[in-house]
Amino acid sequence: MTDAPAPTPLKLFNSLTRQLEEFQPVHPGEARVYSCGPTVYNYPHIGNMRAYVFADTLGRTLSFKGYQLTHVINITDVGHLTDDADAGEDKMEKMAAEKAQSIWDIARHYTEAYWADVKALNIRQPAHWSIATDYVPQMIEFAKAIADKHCYELDGGLYFDTSTVAHYGALARAKTEDGEGRIGEVEGKRHAADFAIWRKTPAGETRQMEWDSPWGRGAPGWHLECSVMSEALLGFPFDIHTGGIDHREIHHPNEIAQNQAHSCSDASGARVWMHNNFLIERSGKMSKSSGEFLRVQLLIDKGYHPLAYRLMCLQAHYRSELEFSWEGLGAAFTRLKRLNLAVKNAQIQMHVQAPNGGPISDEQVVIGPEVQQFLARFDASVSNDLNTATALVTLEELLSNKKLDPRQVVRAAHKMDEVLGLELFWGSAQRVLRIRPKSATITEAEIEAALTRRKEARAAKDFATSDQLRDELIAAGVEVMDGDPLGWDWRLEA
Ligand code: AMP
Ligand code: ZN
Repeated sequence: MTDAPAPTPLKLFNSLTRQLEEFQPVHPGEARVYSCGPTVYNYPHIGNMRAYVFADTLGRTLSFKGYQLTHVINITDVGHLTDDADAGEDKMEKMAAEKAQSIWDIARHYTEAYWADVKALNIRQPAHWSIATDYVPQMIEFAKAIADKHCYELDGGLYFDTSTVAHYGALARAKTEDGEGRIGEVEGKRHAADFAIWRKTPAGETRQMEWDSPWGRGAPGWHLECSVMSEALLGFPFDIHTGGIDHREIHHPNEIAQNQAHSCSDASGARVWMHNNFLIERSGKMSKSSGEFLRVQLLIDKGYHPLAYRLMCLQAHYRSELEFSWEGLGAAFTRLKRLNLAVKNAQIQMHVQAPNGGPISDEQVVIGPEVQQFLARFDASVSNDLNTATALVTLEELLSNKKLDPRQVVRAAHKMDEVLGLELFWGSAQRVLRIRPKSATITEAEIEAALTRRKEARAAKDFATSDQLRDELIAAGVEVMDGDPLGWDWRLEA
Protein backbone atom coordinates (compact mmCIF):
# COMPACT_ATOMS: atom_id res chain seq x y z
CA MET A 1 0.00 0.00 0.00
CA THR A 2 1.26 3.42 -0.84
CA ASP A 3 0.68 6.73 0.88
CA ALA A 4 -0.61 5.04 4.03
CA PRO A 5 -0.63 7.47 6.97
CA ALA A 6 1.43 6.29 9.93
CA PRO A 7 -0.59 4.04 12.24
CA THR A 8 -1.79 5.54 15.52
CA PRO A 9 -0.15 3.97 18.60
CA LEU A 10 -2.59 1.81 20.55
CA LYS A 11 -3.65 3.31 23.86
CA LEU A 12 -5.60 1.31 26.44
CA PHE A 13 -7.05 2.29 29.79
CA ASN A 14 -5.21 0.36 32.48
CA SER A 15 -7.35 -0.12 35.60
CA LEU A 16 -4.16 -0.51 37.65
CA THR A 17 -3.08 3.07 37.01
CA ARG A 18 -6.52 4.42 36.02
CA GLN A 19 -4.81 5.94 33.00
CA LEU A 20 -4.55 5.57 29.25
CA GLU A 21 -1.26 3.88 28.43
CA GLU A 22 0.45 3.08 25.17
CA PHE A 23 0.42 -0.67 24.68
CA GLN A 24 3.91 -2.17 25.02
CA PRO A 25 3.85 -5.94 24.54
CA VAL A 26 5.85 -8.22 26.81
CA HIS A 27 6.99 -10.20 23.75
CA PRO A 28 7.60 -7.96 20.72
CA GLY A 29 4.92 -8.38 18.06
CA GLU A 30 2.70 -10.51 20.28
CA ALA A 31 -0.34 -9.84 22.44
CA ARG A 32 -1.33 -12.33 25.11
CA VAL A 33 -4.76 -11.80 26.62
CA TYR A 34 -6.62 -13.63 29.38
CA SER A 35 -10.35 -13.10 29.93
CA CYS A 36 -12.22 -14.30 32.98
CA GLY A 37 -14.83 -16.62 31.60
CA PRO A 38 -18.32 -17.59 32.68
CA THR A 39 -19.31 -19.68 35.66
CA VAL A 40 -21.28 -22.38 33.92
CA TYR A 41 -24.06 -22.95 36.43
CA ASN A 42 -26.74 -21.26 34.35
CA TYR A 43 -27.28 -19.56 30.99
CA PRO A 44 -25.25 -16.39 30.49
CA HIS A 45 -27.35 -13.22 30.30
CA ILE A 46 -26.67 -10.58 27.69
CA GLY A 47 -24.78 -8.51 30.29
CA ASN A 48 -22.30 -11.36 30.71
CA MET A 49 -21.98 -11.50 26.94
CA ARG A 50 -21.08 -7.79 26.86
CA ALA A 51 -17.86 -8.81 28.63
CA TYR A 52 -16.97 -11.18 25.78
CA VAL A 53 -17.98 -8.80 23.00
CA PHE A 54 -15.57 -6.35 24.65
CA ALA A 55 -12.77 -8.94 24.99
CA ASP A 56 -13.32 -9.98 21.36
CA THR A 57 -13.21 -6.36 20.16
CA LEU A 58 -9.95 -5.93 22.04
CA GLY A 59 -8.56 -9.10 20.43
CA ARG A 60 -9.69 -8.06 16.96
CA THR A 61 -8.15 -4.60 17.46
CA LEU A 62 -4.84 -6.14 18.51
CA SER A 63 -4.90 -8.32 15.37
CA PHE A 64 -5.76 -5.25 13.23
CA LYS A 65 -2.78 -3.46 14.76
CA GLY A 66 -0.55 -6.32 13.61
CA TYR A 67 0.01 -8.18 16.88
CA GLN A 68 -0.04 -11.93 16.92
CA LEU A 69 -2.82 -12.62 19.36
CA THR A 70 -3.07 -15.45 21.88
CA HIS A 71 -6.38 -15.20 23.69
CA VAL A 72 -7.46 -17.44 26.57
CA ILE A 73 -10.96 -17.55 28.03
CA ASN A 74 -11.53 -19.82 30.99
CA ILE A 75 -14.60 -21.80 31.90
CA THR A 76 -15.26 -21.75 35.64
CA ASP A 77 -16.78 -25.11 36.52
CA VAL A 78 -15.67 -25.18 40.16
CA GLY A 79 -15.03 -22.85 43.04
CA HIS A 80 -17.15 -19.74 42.37
CA LEU A 81 -19.27 -19.09 45.44
CA THR A 82 -22.63 -17.34 45.45
CA ASP A 83 -20.85 -14.34 46.99
CA ASP A 84 -17.58 -13.21 45.36
CA ALA A 85 -16.26 -12.27 48.80
CA ASP A 86 -15.80 -15.82 49.93
CA ALA A 87 -19.18 -16.58 51.40
CA GLY A 88 -22.15 -18.73 50.45
CA GLU A 89 -22.30 -21.97 48.53
CA ASP A 90 -20.51 -23.14 45.40
CA LYS A 91 -22.72 -21.94 42.52
CA MET A 92 -22.22 -25.17 40.59
CA GLU A 93 -22.97 -27.46 43.56
CA LYS A 94 -26.07 -25.41 44.41
CA MET A 95 -27.53 -25.63 40.89
CA ALA A 96 -26.74 -29.36 40.64
CA ALA A 97 -28.59 -29.95 43.90
CA GLU A 98 -31.55 -27.83 42.79
CA LYS A 99 -31.85 -29.67 39.49
CA ALA A 100 -30.93 -33.06 40.96
CA GLN A 101 -28.36 -33.47 38.20
CA SER A 102 -24.70 -34.32 38.07
CA ILE A 103 -22.53 -31.24 38.35
CA TRP A 104 -20.57 -32.40 35.30
CA ASP A 105 -23.77 -32.51 33.23
CA ILE A 106 -24.69 -29.02 34.44
CA ALA A 107 -21.24 -27.75 33.45
CA ARG A 108 -21.42 -29.38 30.00
CA HIS A 109 -24.91 -28.08 29.26
CA TYR A 110 -24.23 -24.46 30.20
CA THR A 111 -20.78 -24.40 28.61
CA GLU A 112 -22.40 -25.43 25.34
CA ALA A 113 -25.11 -22.79 25.78
CA TYR A 114 -22.39 -20.18 26.34
CA TRP A 115 -20.51 -21.31 23.24
CA ALA A 116 -23.72 -21.02 21.21
CA ASP A 117 -23.99 -17.37 22.31
CA VAL A 118 -20.33 -16.81 21.50
CA LYS A 119 -21.00 -18.04 17.97
CA ALA A 120 -24.23 -16.05 17.59
CA LEU A 121 -22.42 -12.84 18.55
CA ASN A 122 -19.55 -13.62 16.15
CA ILE A 123 -17.02 -13.67 18.98
CA ARG A 124 -13.85 -15.25 17.60
CA GLN A 125 -12.71 -18.53 19.08
CA PRO A 126 -9.83 -17.92 21.51
CA ALA A 127 -6.64 -19.95 21.18
CA HIS A 128 -7.62 -21.83 24.36
CA TRP A 129 -10.76 -22.41 26.36
CA SER A 130 -9.24 -23.36 29.69
CA ILE A 131 -11.50 -25.46 31.88
CA ALA A 132 -10.83 -24.93 35.61
CA THR A 133 -11.26 -28.58 36.63
CA ASP A 134 -8.50 -29.59 34.17
CA TYR A 135 -5.98 -27.59 36.21
CA VAL A 136 -6.58 -28.73 39.78
CA PRO A 137 -3.17 -30.48 40.21
CA GLN A 138 -1.42 -27.26 39.08
CA MET A 139 -3.59 -25.26 41.49
CA ILE A 140 -2.51 -27.51 44.37
CA GLU A 141 1.17 -27.04 43.39
CA PHE A 142 0.69 -23.26 43.25
CA ALA A 143 -0.97 -23.26 46.68
CA LYS A 144 1.80 -25.45 48.12
CA ALA A 145 4.40 -22.99 46.87
CA ILE A 146 2.84 -20.04 48.71
CA ALA A 147 1.27 -21.81 51.72
CA ASP A 148 4.13 -21.35 54.22
CA LYS A 149 4.77 -17.67 53.70
CA HIS A 150 1.34 -16.38 52.74
CA CYS A 151 -1.40 -18.67 54.02
CA TYR A 152 -2.91 -20.07 57.19
CA GLU A 153 -5.18 -23.01 57.80
CA LEU A 154 -8.66 -22.84 59.33
CA ASP A 155 -11.33 -25.50 59.70
CA GLY A 156 -12.76 -24.37 56.38
CA GLY A 157 -9.48 -24.76 54.47
CA LEU A 158 -6.42 -22.80 53.47
CA TYR A 159 -6.69 -19.01 53.59
CA PHE A 160 -4.57 -16.34 51.95
CA ASP A 161 -3.28 -13.68 54.36
CA THR A 162 -3.65 -10.44 52.42
CA SER A 163 -1.31 -8.57 54.77
CA THR A 164 1.65 -10.60 53.45
CA VAL A 165 1.77 -8.80 50.09
CA ALA A 166 2.51 -5.18 49.30
CA HIS A 167 -0.40 -2.86 48.45
CA TYR A 168 -3.15 -5.45 48.65
CA GLY A 169 -6.27 -4.20 46.88
CA ALA A 170 -4.52 -1.37 45.00
CA LEU A 171 -6.46 -2.30 41.85
CA ALA A 172 -9.74 -1.72 43.68
CA ARG A 173 -8.39 1.44 45.31
CA ALA A 174 -9.55 -0.32 48.47
CA LYS A 175 -9.25 1.24 51.87
CA THR A 176 -8.47 -0.97 54.85
CA GLU A 177 -11.96 -0.63 56.21
CA ASP A 178 -13.49 -1.85 52.93
CA GLY A 179 -14.63 -5.40 53.32
CA GLU A 180 -14.85 -5.05 57.07
CA GLY A 181 -18.23 -6.72 56.77
CA ARG A 182 -16.59 -9.82 55.42
CA ILE A 183 -14.56 -10.65 58.53
CA GLY A 184 -17.26 -12.31 60.57
CA GLU A 185 -18.26 -14.71 57.82
CA VAL A 186 -15.48 -17.18 58.46
CA GLU A 187 -14.35 -17.80 62.02
CA GLY A 188 -10.65 -17.24 62.54
CA LYS A 189 -10.05 -15.11 59.45
CA ARG A 190 -7.23 -12.67 60.24
CA HIS A 191 -8.27 -9.85 57.93
CA ALA A 192 -11.54 -8.94 56.31
CA ALA A 193 -10.19 -9.39 52.81
CA ASP A 194 -8.42 -12.76 53.39
CA PHE A 195 -9.81 -15.41 51.08
CA ALA A 196 -9.89 -19.17 50.59
CA ILE A 197 -7.27 -20.79 48.41
CA TRP A 198 -8.55 -24.27 49.20
CA ARG A 199 -11.99 -25.10 50.62
CA LYS A 200 -12.10 -28.26 52.69
CA THR A 201 -15.19 -30.45 52.40
CA PRO A 202 -16.84 -30.28 55.86
CA ALA A 203 -16.49 -33.46 57.92
CA GLY A 204 -19.25 -35.95 57.22
CA GLU A 205 -20.13 -34.38 53.85
CA THR A 206 -19.12 -35.25 50.31
CA ARG A 207 -19.14 -32.90 47.39
CA GLN A 208 -19.65 -33.94 43.79
CA MET A 209 -16.40 -32.21 42.88
CA GLU A 210 -13.54 -32.76 45.31
CA TRP A 211 -9.86 -33.60 45.22
CA ASP A 212 -7.20 -34.67 47.75
CA SER A 213 -4.79 -32.00 48.89
CA PRO A 214 -2.30 -31.38 51.73
CA TRP A 215 -5.14 -29.42 53.42
CA GLY A 216 -7.70 -32.20 53.18
CA ARG A 217 -10.19 -33.29 50.57
CA GLY A 218 -11.89 -30.33 48.99
CA ALA A 219 -11.98 -27.91 46.08
CA PRO A 220 -9.89 -24.93 44.96
CA GLY A 221 -10.89 -21.34 45.60
CA TRP A 222 -12.16 -19.42 42.59
CA HIS A 223 -9.37 -16.81 42.47
CA LEU A 224 -6.68 -19.48 42.34
CA GLU A 225 -7.83 -20.87 39.01
CA CYS A 226 -7.24 -17.68 37.01
CA SER A 227 -3.74 -17.14 38.46
CA VAL A 228 -2.80 -20.72 37.57
CA MET A 229 -4.35 -20.95 34.12
CA SER A 230 -3.16 -17.54 32.91
CA GLU A 231 0.44 -18.35 33.86
CA ALA A 232 0.23 -21.89 32.44
CA LEU A 233 -1.05 -20.73 29.05
CA LEU A 234 0.36 -17.23 28.64
CA GLY A 235 3.51 -17.12 30.79
CA PHE A 236 4.36 -14.61 33.49
CA PRO A 237 3.95 -11.74 33.09
CA PHE A 238 1.58 -11.55 30.14
CA ASP A 239 -0.05 -8.56 28.48
CA ILE A 240 -3.72 -7.96 29.24
CA HIS A 241 -6.25 -9.39 31.67
CA THR A 242 -9.93 -8.58 31.12
CA GLY A 243 -13.18 -8.96 33.03
CA GLY A 244 -16.30 -7.11 34.07
CA ILE A 245 -15.99 -4.10 36.38
CA ASP A 246 -17.17 -6.16 39.37
CA HIS A 247 -13.95 -8.17 39.12
CA ARG A 248 -11.91 -5.03 39.74
CA GLU A 249 -13.09 -5.08 43.35
CA ILE A 250 -12.39 -8.60 44.66
CA HIS A 251 -11.52 -11.29 42.13
CA HIS A 252 -8.70 -9.47 40.37
CA PRO A 253 -7.10 -7.94 43.51
CA ASN A 254 -7.03 -11.48 44.90
CA GLU A 255 -5.47 -12.86 41.73
CA ILE A 256 -2.85 -10.12 41.92
CA ALA A 257 -2.08 -10.92 45.58
CA GLN A 258 -1.57 -14.60 44.69
CA ASN A 259 0.61 -13.69 41.72
CA GLN A 260 2.78 -11.44 43.86
CA ALA A 261 3.15 -14.20 46.46
CA HIS A 262 3.98 -16.84 43.87
CA SER A 263 6.47 -14.71 41.94
CA CYS A 264 8.03 -13.28 45.13
CA SER A 265 7.78 -9.86 43.51
CA ASP A 266 5.47 -6.89 43.04
CA ALA A 267 4.45 -8.14 39.56
CA SER A 268 0.69 -8.30 39.24
CA GLY A 269 0.66 -10.96 36.52
CA ALA A 270 -0.76 -8.95 33.66
CA ARG A 271 0.72 -5.61 32.72
CA VAL A 272 -2.64 -4.16 31.79
CA TRP A 273 -5.95 -4.89 33.54
CA MET A 274 -9.05 -3.89 31.59
CA HIS A 275 -12.66 -3.89 32.76
CA ASN A 276 -15.90 -3.46 30.88
CA ASN A 277 -18.72 -1.61 32.56
CA PHE A 278 -22.11 -3.21 33.12
CA LEU A 279 -25.11 -3.59 30.92
CA ILE A 280 -28.04 -2.57 33.07
CA GLU A 281 -31.73 -3.25 32.81
CA ARG A 282 -34.07 -1.13 34.89
CA SER A 283 -36.57 -3.83 35.76
CA GLY A 284 -33.74 -6.16 36.81
CA LYS A 285 -35.01 -8.98 34.62
CA MET A 286 -31.54 -9.70 33.29
CA SER A 287 -30.49 -11.29 36.54
CA LYS A 288 -30.19 -15.03 36.46
CA SER A 289 -31.96 -15.43 39.77
CA SER A 290 -35.30 -13.80 38.96
CA GLY A 291 -37.21 -16.04 36.57
CA GLU A 292 -37.04 -15.33 32.83
CA PHE A 293 -33.96 -13.33 32.08
CA LEU A 294 -32.43 -11.64 29.10
CA ARG A 295 -30.48 -14.16 27.11
CA VAL A 296 -29.28 -14.02 23.52
CA GLN A 297 -31.88 -16.69 22.69
CA LEU A 298 -34.66 -14.44 23.99
CA LEU A 299 -33.58 -11.70 21.57
CA ILE A 300 -33.64 -14.22 18.73
CA ASP A 301 -37.06 -15.55 19.78
CA LYS A 302 -38.37 -12.00 19.55
CA GLY A 303 -37.07 -11.63 16.00
CA TYR A 304 -33.86 -9.61 16.59
CA HIS A 305 -30.65 -10.69 14.94
CA PRO A 306 -28.02 -11.34 17.64
CA LEU A 307 -25.54 -9.09 15.83
CA ALA A 308 -27.90 -6.19 16.52
CA TYR A 309 -26.95 -6.71 20.17
CA ARG A 310 -23.27 -6.79 19.24
CA LEU A 311 -23.75 -3.49 17.41
CA MET A 312 -25.60 -2.09 20.45
CA CYS A 313 -22.53 -2.87 22.55
CA LEU A 314 -20.18 -1.29 20.00
CA GLN A 315 -22.22 1.93 19.94
CA ALA A 316 -21.29 2.55 23.57
CA HIS A 317 -17.81 2.81 25.00
CA TYR A 318 -16.91 -0.36 26.88
CA ARG A 319 -16.11 1.67 30.02
CA SER A 320 -19.55 3.30 30.09
CA GLU A 321 -22.61 1.76 31.59
CA LEU A 322 -25.05 0.72 28.88
CA GLU A 323 -28.76 0.58 29.52
CA PHE A 324 -30.63 -2.13 27.69
CA SER A 325 -34.01 -1.38 26.13
CA TRP A 326 -35.95 -3.08 23.38
CA GLU A 327 -36.22 0.28 21.58
CA GLY A 328 -32.44 0.62 21.70
CA LEU A 329 -32.01 -2.88 20.36
CA GLY A 330 -34.54 -2.16 17.60
CA ALA A 331 -32.62 0.98 16.59
CA ALA A 332 -29.35 -0.99 16.53
CA PHE A 333 -31.04 -3.61 14.34
CA THR A 334 -32.13 -0.95 11.85
CA ARG A 335 -28.60 0.45 11.80
CA LEU A 336 -27.22 -3.03 11.16
CA LYS A 337 -29.62 -3.47 8.24
CA ARG A 338 -28.55 -0.12 6.79
CA LEU A 339 -24.89 -1.10 7.07
CA ASN A 340 -25.59 -4.39 5.32
CA LEU A 341 -27.49 -2.62 2.57
CA ALA A 342 -24.68 -0.08 2.11
CA VAL A 343 -22.12 -2.86 1.79
CA LYS A 344 -24.32 -4.69 -0.70
CA ASN A 345 -24.73 -1.54 -2.79
CA ALA A 346 -20.98 -0.90 -2.76
CA GLN A 347 -20.41 -4.48 -3.89
CA ILE A 348 -22.92 -4.05 -6.73
CA GLN A 349 -21.17 -0.82 -7.76
CA MET A 350 -17.83 -2.53 -7.62
CA HIS A 351 -18.95 -5.25 -10.05
CA VAL A 352 -20.55 -2.73 -12.35
CA GLN A 353 -17.25 -0.87 -12.49
CA ALA A 354 -14.96 -3.89 -12.78
CA PRO A 355 -12.98 -3.62 -16.03
CA ASN A 356 -14.05 -7.05 -17.28
CA GLY A 357 -17.35 -7.16 -15.41
CA GLY A 358 -16.16 -10.00 -13.18
CA PRO A 359 -15.63 -10.06 -9.43
CA ILE A 360 -12.47 -8.51 -8.04
CA SER A 361 -10.58 -10.08 -5.19
CA ASP A 362 -9.61 -7.91 -2.27
CA GLU A 363 -5.88 -8.16 -2.93
CA GLN A 364 -6.16 -6.81 -6.47
CA VAL A 365 -7.29 -3.43 -5.16
CA VAL A 366 -4.79 -0.81 -4.13
CA ILE A 367 -6.22 1.60 -1.59
CA GLY A 368 -5.48 5.16 -2.63
CA PRO A 369 -4.85 8.17 -0.37
CA GLU A 370 -8.50 9.25 -0.07
CA VAL A 371 -9.76 5.90 1.21
CA GLN A 372 -6.58 5.60 3.30
CA GLN A 373 -7.74 8.67 5.19
CA PHE A 374 -10.87 6.78 6.25
CA LEU A 375 -8.80 3.80 7.37
CA ALA A 376 -6.54 6.16 9.29
CA ARG A 377 -9.53 7.72 11.06
CA PHE A 378 -10.86 4.28 11.88
CA ASP A 379 -7.44 3.27 13.21
CA ALA A 380 -7.27 6.43 15.34
CA SER A 381 -10.68 5.61 16.86
CA VAL A 382 -10.05 2.01 17.80
CA SER A 383 -6.51 2.85 18.93
CA ASN A 384 -8.00 5.35 21.36
CA ASP A 385 -9.02 2.78 23.97
CA LEU A 386 -11.35 0.99 21.54
CA ASN A 387 -13.60 3.86 20.60
CA THR A 388 -15.88 1.75 18.45
CA ALA A 389 -18.65 4.37 18.53
CA THR A 390 -16.67 6.80 16.37
CA ALA A 391 -15.18 3.96 14.33
CA LEU A 392 -18.72 2.99 13.28
CA VAL A 393 -19.40 6.53 12.08
CA THR A 394 -16.26 6.44 9.93
CA LEU A 395 -17.40 3.16 8.37
CA GLU A 396 -20.81 4.68 7.58
CA GLU A 397 -19.25 7.80 6.06
CA LEU A 398 -16.98 5.65 3.94
CA LEU A 399 -19.88 3.56 2.67
CA SER A 400 -22.06 6.56 1.87
CA ASN A 401 -19.38 8.53 0.00
CA LYS A 402 -20.33 8.25 -3.66
CA LYS A 403 -17.14 9.92 -4.93
CA LEU A 404 -14.84 7.10 -3.89
CA ASP A 405 -13.85 4.06 -5.94
CA PRO A 406 -16.30 1.33 -4.78
CA ARG A 407 -13.62 -1.35 -5.05
CA GLN A 408 -11.44 0.53 -2.59
CA VAL A 409 -14.45 1.24 -0.39
CA VAL A 410 -15.32 -2.45 -0.23
CA ARG A 411 -11.76 -3.45 0.59
CA ALA A 412 -11.45 -0.83 3.36
CA ALA A 413 -14.91 -1.65 4.76
CA HIS A 414 -13.90 -5.28 4.87
CA LYS A 415 -10.84 -4.41 6.96
CA MET A 416 -13.01 -2.36 9.31
CA ASP A 417 -15.53 -5.16 9.70
CA GLU A 418 -12.70 -7.51 10.68
CA VAL A 419 -12.46 -5.33 13.81
CA LEU A 420 -16.17 -4.71 14.38
CA GLY A 421 -17.20 -8.31 13.70
CA LEU A 422 -20.61 -7.42 12.25
CA GLU A 423 -20.32 -9.93 9.40
CA LEU A 424 -21.28 -7.34 6.81
CA PHE A 425 -19.82 -9.48 4.05
CA TRP A 426 -22.12 -12.47 4.42
CA GLY A 427 -23.72 -11.95 1.05
CA SER A 428 -27.48 -11.91 1.00
CA ALA A 429 -27.98 -9.63 3.96
CA GLN A 430 -31.76 -9.66 4.07
CA ARG A 431 -32.11 -13.42 4.15
CA VAL A 432 -29.51 -13.76 6.88
CA LEU A 433 -30.81 -10.91 9.00
CA ARG A 434 -34.40 -12.08 8.80
CA ILE A 435 -34.91 -13.85 12.10
CA ARG A 436 -38.06 -15.86 12.60
CA PRO A 437 -39.70 -15.02 15.95
CA LYS A 438 -40.62 -18.04 18.02
CA SER A 439 -44.29 -17.06 18.04
CA ALA A 440 -44.60 -17.03 14.22
CA THR A 441 -47.19 -19.38 12.68
CA ILE A 442 -46.73 -18.53 8.99
CA THR A 443 -43.74 -19.59 6.89
CA GLU A 444 -41.56 -17.33 4.74
CA ALA A 445 -42.66 -19.18 1.61
CA GLU A 446 -46.33 -18.56 2.45
CA ILE A 447 -45.66 -14.87 3.00
CA GLU A 448 -43.75 -14.52 -0.27
CA ALA A 449 -46.49 -16.37 -2.16
CA ALA A 450 -49.22 -14.13 -0.69
CA LEU A 451 -47.21 -11.02 -1.54
CA THR A 452 -46.73 -12.17 -5.13
CA ARG A 453 -50.48 -12.76 -5.46
CA ARG A 454 -51.08 -9.34 -3.96
CA LYS A 455 -48.73 -7.71 -6.47
CA GLU A 456 -50.57 -9.43 -9.32
CA ALA A 457 -53.93 -8.34 -7.95
CA ARG A 458 -52.76 -4.74 -7.71
CA ALA A 459 -51.33 -4.85 -11.23
CA ALA A 460 -54.79 -6.01 -12.37
CA LYS A 461 -56.35 -3.20 -10.29
CA ASP A 462 -58.19 -5.82 -8.23
CA PHE A 463 -57.93 -3.85 -5.00
CA ALA A 464 -60.49 -5.93 -3.13
CA THR A 465 -58.28 -9.04 -3.42
CA SER A 466 -55.16 -7.02 -2.67
CA ASP A 467 -56.72 -5.64 0.55
CA GLN A 468 -57.98 -9.05 1.58
CA LEU A 469 -54.52 -10.58 1.16
CA ARG A 470 -53.04 -7.78 3.20
CA ASP A 471 -55.58 -8.29 5.99
CA GLU A 472 -54.84 -12.02 6.05
CA LEU A 473 -51.15 -11.33 6.36
CA ILE A 474 -51.71 -8.84 9.19
CA ALA A 475 -53.87 -11.40 10.99
CA ALA A 476 -50.97 -13.87 10.73
CA GLY A 477 -48.64 -11.34 12.39
CA VAL A 478 -46.98 -10.02 9.23
CA GLU A 479 -46.35 -6.31 8.88
CA VAL A 480 -46.47 -5.45 5.18
CA MET A 481 -43.97 -2.67 4.46
CA ASP A 482 -44.59 -1.38 0.95
CA GLY A 483 -41.69 0.68 -0.36
CA ASP A 484 -39.46 0.17 2.67
CA PRO A 485 -36.21 2.07 1.89
CA LEU A 486 -34.17 -0.85 3.16
CA GLY A 487 -35.94 -3.18 0.76
CA TRP A 488 -37.62 -5.17 3.53
CA ASP A 489 -41.05 -5.81 2.10
CA TRP A 490 -42.35 -7.47 5.23
CA ARG A 491 -41.58 -8.15 8.85
CA LEU A 492 -42.88 -10.75 11.25
CA GLU A 493 -44.10 -9.32 14.55
CA ALA A 494 -42.88 -11.10 17.66
P1 AMP B 1 -19.86 -14.73 35.74
O1 AMP B 1 -20.40 -15.85 34.87
O2 AMP B 1 -20.83 -14.29 36.78
O3 AMP B 1 -18.50 -15.07 36.31
O4 AMP B 1 -19.69 -13.47 34.79
C1 AMP B 1 -19.06 -13.52 33.55
C2 AMP B 1 -18.57 -12.14 33.14
O5 AMP B 1 -19.66 -11.22 32.96
C3 AMP B 1 -17.65 -11.48 34.16
O6 AMP B 1 -16.57 -10.87 33.47
C4 AMP B 1 -18.53 -10.44 34.82
O7 AMP B 1 -17.77 -9.38 35.33
C5 AMP B 1 -19.37 -10.00 33.64
N1 AMP B 1 -20.67 -9.39 33.97
C6 AMP B 1 -21.57 -9.81 34.88
N2 AMP B 1 -22.69 -9.06 34.86
C7 AMP B 1 -22.51 -8.14 33.86
C8 AMP B 1 -23.31 -7.06 33.33
N3 AMP B 1 -24.53 -6.81 33.76
N4 AMP B 1 -22.78 -6.33 32.32
C9 AMP B 1 -21.54 -6.58 31.85
N5 AMP B 1 -20.73 -7.57 32.31
C10 AMP B 1 -21.21 -8.35 33.30
ZN1 ZN C 1 -11.02 -14.93 36.73
